[in-house]
Amino acid sequence: QVETLKEKLLEQAQEISRLRSELGGTDAEKHRDLLAAENERLRQEMKALEGELQRQQQAPCRDCPHLQENAELQEQLSQLQREAEETRARLVELDLEVQQKTNRLAEVELRLKDSLAERAEEEERLSRRLRDSQETIASLKSQPQQIKYIIKTVEVESAKVKQALCETQSRNQYLQEQVGMQKQVLKEMEQQLQSSQKTEAQLRAQIMMYEAELERAHGQMLEEMQAMEDEKNHAIEEAFSRAQVEMKAVHENLAGVRTNLLTLQPALRTLTHDYNSLKRQVRDFPLLLQETLRSARAEISQAIEEVHSTNRELLRKYRRELQLRKKCHNELVRLKGNIRVFGRVRPITKEDGEGPEAANAVTFDADDDAVLHLLHKGKQVSFELDKVFPPQASQEEVFQEVQALVTSCIDGYNVCIFAYGQTGAGKTYTMEGTAANPGINQRALQLLFSEVRGKAADWDYTITVSAAEIYNEALRDLLGKEPQEKLEIKLCPDGSGQLYVPGLTEFRVQSVEDINKVFEFGHIKRVTECTNLNEHSSRSHALLIVTVRGLDRSTGLRTTGKLNLVDLAGSERVGRSGAEGSRLREAQHINKSLSALGDVIYALRSRQGHVPFRNSKLTYLLQDSLSGDSKTLMMVQVSPAEKNTSETLCSLKFAERVRSVELGPVSRKAELGSWPSQEHLEGDSPGSSAPAGRGHASPSPGQLSSRSASIRRKLHTSG
Ligand code: ADP
Ligand code: MG
Repeated sequence: QVETLKEKLLEQAQEISRLRSELGGTDAEKHRDLLAAENERLRQEMKALEGELQRQQQAPCRDCPHLQENAELQEQLSQLQREAEETRARLVELDLEVQQKTNRLAEVELRLKDSLAERAEEEERLSRRLRDSQETIASLKSQPQQIKYIIKTVEVESAKVKQALCETQSRNQYLQEQVGMQKQVLKEMEQQLQSSQKTEAQLRAQIMMYEAELERAHGQMLEEMQAMEDEKNHAIEEAFSRAQVEMKAVHENLAGVRTNLLTLQPALRTLTHDYNSLKRQVRDFPLLLQETLRSARAEISQAIEEVHSTNRELLRKYRRELQLRKKCHNELVRLKGNIRVFGRVRPITKEDGEGPEAANAVTFDADDDAVLHLLHKGKQVSFELDKVFPPQASQEEVFQEVQALVTSCIDGYNVCIFAYGQTGAGKTYTMEGTAANPGINQRALQLLFSEVRGKAADWDYTITVSAAEIYNEALRDLLGKEPQEKLEIKLCPDGSGQLYVPGLTEFRVQSVEDINKVFEFGHIKRVTECTNLNEHSSRSHALLIVTVRGLDRSTGLRTTGKLNLVDLAGSERVGRSGAEGSRLREAQHINKSLSALGDVIYALRSRQGHVPFRNSKLTYLLQDSLSGDSKTLMMVQVSPAEKNTSETLCSLKFAERVRSVELGPVSRKAELGSWPSQEHLEGDSPGSSAPAGRGHASPSPGQLSSRSASIRRKLHTSG
């Protein structure tokens, strides 16, 4: 048994040594070192390549189309490097593993050694005991007695030995188990080693592959670099040649520029010169400007002075012209006659009735608007006035002939417009008109307003209106608070010789509305004062006195013009038989005042030294407006009706006589006689006698008329 154990022990020792040699820790370590060296070499190479790469990157070929590719390759390289790194890491891992395993192996070996040592010790001990036992056996054999005894003891002791053997056997068993286990471990480790070797081979292959790839990439890169280099060189060459060409062109240009420069130099010189002169001018400019300003100022002030003097001259001329105009106007009016006589024939109305009485007795001359024919008692009598308005003449047409007179009032002239004629002949219609168709009064005021407005730029005008009535030689204010009060006509206390009526109400008017109010007011007064307005109005003179006062703002010139619009009392004869009391008195007053008016006009036209203004209230009141360069218009109203022909005849005779009064011998001749009274106008009325207070002789109207007409004709023909 011991022998077999020994054999087994030997075998195991051999096995252990074999295993140890086989384990080849050294081989793996060598391999690992080799790999590490290889790794190091690769690393070095990589570093060198990287250096190269960096160098190339630092000197990159600009505009190189391979840059992109290069970048890609670099990317690939870095990828490969990364992979190599990974592999390396794995290699390190594996190295670590191998190390661990080697450590474990060393441990196991150590344990194995220990157990072997133990076994050897045990064997030693056992062999010693065996020897002891054998010696003992031998000694015993030599000492049979003793041996017997000893055998006996051995036999006794052999049980003990047997037990020890058993123990040793069990121990051997245990050790064998241990060895089996160790073998198992060894096997495992071998397997592990194999697998690690396999992995190592794989890794090596991979590394080889990577290396090949790296090599390839390196080669490719080198190729690329070479190509890039070539390209770069090519580009450089090309650029060089191009630059040479360009250089040549630049040289040529330079030559051209040089020649240009040569030609430009004189221009530059002139420019510099100009610039210098400009600079000088700029420097001198303020002075020059001041000078110019001074002279301009002087010129302007001179011009202003000139304009001033021209203005003064113009103003002087304007004033002279104004005066001249006035003079011319006066002359014109004088030539036309200060006193003009118009006739107006009203249309036949319903009031004229029907039948032969209402037949038309008035006809007109188609060629001459100043001529009118009246059929009276079968005879046609013709009259020539300044103008005749037929029945169809409108208020407007009439006013058109009058408006020149009205406007002259603005220039400071006094104007009188009388409406003369028998009651019902249209006096009030002509002067006042109707609301729908106003007469001269309203139209005149409207015209004055518009004229004044037109002159408002230079003139300030005020227009005032008074309304008065003369009845039975008594003057009454129609706009006053006490219409019954009789007003007196007085001389102005300022010694100007002007007349005025103290207490006569004056209204300032500025618009048509104002006039209407004034007229309405006057009317109401008149209506409330008498029972029969028509009758009353036909027996009184109604006056509308318009005063226009002007101030020329530029010259300070003041003007005052008066427009007297008079609606006279009816001129019809009042039958003396039967007329008594107040009726007779009225008739006498009317006759007196109308004759006085005729006398005054006659005296004025014939330039008599004495004009009998004081013979009636009317003429006395209108004295200022009748004398001097005043203008008078007598509008003689007639009815065309057959029944009114004798009155019409009287009125027309009155008109013609007023008009035909001429200057010169006739007027001187006429100076002796007075104006024919109302009674004398009724030339054909039998048994007529002058009324009380009217006893002056006068030439027959017929004589006067025909004579004056012949004289006028003479004047006309002689020019
Ligand atoms: P007088 O004032 O002379 O007495 P009126 O002016 O009162 O006369 O006129 C008498 C009538 O005749 C009135 O009804 C008036 O309307 C009318 N009449 C006068 N003249 C004209 C005319 N030209 N056109 C139309 N009607 C007129
Ligand atoms: Mg009337």
